[in-house]
Amino acid sequence: MSEQSTPEQPVDTRVRVQGEPVDDFPATAPGAARGRVRPITVVGDEVLHRANRDVDPAMLGGAELSGLIDDMFLTMYAAEGVGLAGNQVGEDLRLFVYDCPDDDGVRHVGHVVNPVLAEREAGAALAVENEGCLSVPGPHAELPRAEYARVTGVDKDGAPVEIEGTGYFARCLQHETDHTYGRLYIDRLAARPRKKVLKQMNEMSADVFARREATAAKLREEGIGRG
Ligand SMILES: [Zn+2]
Repeated sequence: MSEQSTPEQPVDTRVRVQGEPVDDFPATAPGAARGRVRPITVVGDEVLHRANRDVDPAMLGGAELSGLIDDMFLTMYAAEGVGLAGNQVGEDLRLFVYDCPDDDGVRHVGHVVNPVLAEREAGAALAVENEGCLSVPGPHAELPRAEYARVTGVDKDGAPVEIEGTGYFARCLQHETDHTYGRLYIDRLAARPRKKVLKQMNEMSADVFARREATAAKLREEGIGRG
């Protein structure tokens, strides 16, 4: 069999905001500047371990939901994360924010309210890569995830959103949607690696918390966040 040359598809490297390419976007999502850093819940906190409530339609378009999303962005940046779910700031609500690169180096930024992950097709490709979680501060562990993921939901104003991603961003979409159903990545690990991760967390978490405080202070100095 001869090798076929396929023309390389040039990658559109523009930032995707809510799934749509934009020509210019700041280093942190604008809402973060209005946000407050919230404490991040840790494995063992009950709100992380159960399916959360759908965001009520009455909240859509409101200041409370918008403010929560601002807080979530800022909290994620202060913790140097790429995704954060509502229950990670203690809210029993199904939503997440993200600012995450994919394997082509394309940056994806946005939020999804009441996310639903599309069923994986039979035989879909899996990738085994390192994964970590802001609510399991410190360690990482290898975990298989689908190479491609698609999430549907609505935005904070109730407009339908459909976000798809590959590689690391696909992993993020799966990880964050899992959170909203009370599932942590360590729940997908076998007993032994799970135990190892929790042991490492106990050793590493104090340093992680100190670093988060320093990063939050630095952001504040840059005028990002109100505290
Ligand atoms: Zn997580």
